[in-house]
Amino acid sequence: MPTFEYAPAPESRAVVDIASSYGLFIGGEFVEATGTKPFKTISPSTEEVLADISEASPGDVDAAVKAARTAYTRVWSRMSGADRGKYLFRIARILQERAREFAVLETLDNGKPIKETRDVDVPLAAAHFFYHAGWADKLAYAGLPGGTDPRPHGVVGQVIPWNFPLLMLAWKVAPALATGNTLVLKPAETTPLTALLFAEVCQQADLPPGVVNIVTGAGATGQAIVDHPGIDKIAFTGSTGVGKMIARAIAGTRKKATLELGGKGANIVFDDAPIDQTVEGVVRGIFFNQGHVCCAGSRLLVQESIAEEFTKRLQRRLGTLRVGDPMDKNTDVGAINSRAQLDRITALVETGRAEGASHWDSGCALPDKGFWFRPTVFSGVAQTHRIAQEEIFGPVLSVLTFRTPGEAVAKANNTPYGLSAGIWTEKGSRILWMADQLKAGVVWANTFNQFDPTSPFGGYKESGYGREGGRHGLEAYVKGEI
Ligand code: NAP
Ligand code: MG
Repeated sequence: MPTFEYAPAPESRAVVDIASSYGLFIGGEFVEATGTKPFKTISPSTEEVLADISEASPGDVDAAVKAARTAYTRVWSRMSGADRGKYLFRIARILQERAREFAVLETLDNGKPIKETRDVDVPLAAAHFFYHAGWADKLAYAGLPGGTDPRPHGVVGQVIPWNFPLLMLAWKVAPALATGNTLVLKPAETTPLTALLFAEVCQQADLPPGVVNIVTGAGATGQAIVDHPGIDKIAFTGSTGVGKMIARAIAGTRKKATLELGGKGANIVFDDAPIDQTVEGVVRGIFFNQGHVCCAGSRLLVQESIAEEFTKRLQRRLGTLRVGDPMDKNTDVGAINSRAQLDRITALVETGRAEGASHWDSGCALPDKGFWFRPTVFSGVAQTHRIAQEEIFGPVLSVLTFRTPGEAVAKANNTPYGLSAGIWTEKGSRILWMADQLKAGVVWANTFNQFDPTSPFGGYKESGYGREGGRHGLEAYVKGEI
């Protein structure tokens, strides 16, 4: 337990200006939605209502797709890559200039700690725009389908989740624009505010109207984008269940798709790993962003000879995590994003207990209002337990053990997913051997949850298909492949 208390270090929310209600961003301006009732977005750490958000109807989605098509035909597809790049550089710089505003807004709307929005989400979002700005005039040399003249798809429909709202937007928008597509994007129902602020950034950057359109709403709005005949390609990040529905919906159409779905990443610890550094890495792997991370290291596979000692040190470290007000700069673990997600986590944790795994939580005090879950560790987990197979998407770690590298590989790959994995060992040769055997899109060695726009990210099996980031990520946005 901590031996001293920290003084409160609250970030100021005065740097953001939240309107009481928002329209849809179509054709370069905010317009009212037709007909349907607005919904509210709340701050999950206090349950305070932040704003009324419009729900886009299929008719509104149609207007957005038409605006995107017009902008594509008249302006964006005719513009040189160098000129498109200038817009992307401009957007990247504005994101940096307004970084504090974005960080505070994201923390309020999502519940994640300000330390993370400030140091991870927002800088990485800007980095994605800078990186793709650099590609816009060099696509002919990128070895893409289409060779020296890679062609965009046209109008892209993009649907993103709530766990990294601005960052997922950047992963989607930056490569689409760099390659010459226009787009219609839907943020998640619980976290629309940074996407709406991004719409203002597009205005500030003088981006031609209709190149970026942002429509808010819930699943039905996402479905309307997927089903719209004017959409040439879908880029989706979210759950495997919805990803499968999308794959079915577009089967037999000319639409292309990339699907970034769920995961159940294995973090594999050998007995020669430096134990304290590894504990830090394992904590970062699963408790970063409340565990709302598709590539989280949610299964710890630890070599049997050190399992007891490792689990003890891990629990001691988790006892020092500061859980609470996400606007406090010292907070490590913030609020769960929604009541629905809290209910899902609670239900899966119950099955863990019922199936016989041994449950431990940090016992920390939790605020009275809002949605919270204590950092939790299950040990004695069997491969058949639901908590070893299903994505919990919360601050819950399942610990399994292994004796040999071969057993570690077999257990790590024993999941319908294949998004990420981590290896902790001093032996370089073992890292290379393991990385070769693991069916995961990303394998980290002696680190975890490191992201960089130059590095492709994506899954195997039920974690989806297609890559985002790096040169590979550009391929999904040009004709001829995927
Ligand atoms: P989700 O329910 O699949 O939602 C993702 C997005 O799809 C949201 O904008 C959602 O709208 C929308 N949507 C829901 N139903 C739809 C439909 N029938 N047609 C089209 N769009 C629809 O996922 P989630 O629970 O919010 O997000 C967590 C999941 O995302 C986890 O499984 C996680 O692993 C995955 N994820 C993957 C990656 C990756 O890169 N692989 C990254 C982050 C998250 P509303 O939210 O407004 O209802
Ligand atoms: Mg919200």
